[in-house]
Amino acid sequence: MTDRPRFHVIEGTPAPDTPVEQVRKRVRKMAKPPSMIQCHRCGGREVIQTKIGMLLKDGKPTGGTRQLLCSLCFMRGERVVLG
Ligand SMILES: [Zn+2]
Repeated sequence: MTDRPRFHVIEGTPAPDTPVEQVRKRVRKMAKPPSMIQCHRCGGREVIQTKIGMLLKDGKPTGGTRQLLCSLCFMRGERVVLG
């Protein structure tokens, strides 16, 4: 047990806790303002919602993972996931 790698603790400088930094933290925590969903490939703003892996429960489709696809790209045979 002599060749164990040694770990050195490096003392990093802590983030400054100035009033400015506190405001920055608060702003980062805030929800982002709503923005228009736009396709990063074609610039289209029309989306289609799909669901992957839905379950049929009591004759009703439930659950699944929701995904937004660009409808314009989808028509061209491309599957561009927007969120
Ligand atoms: Zn698109």
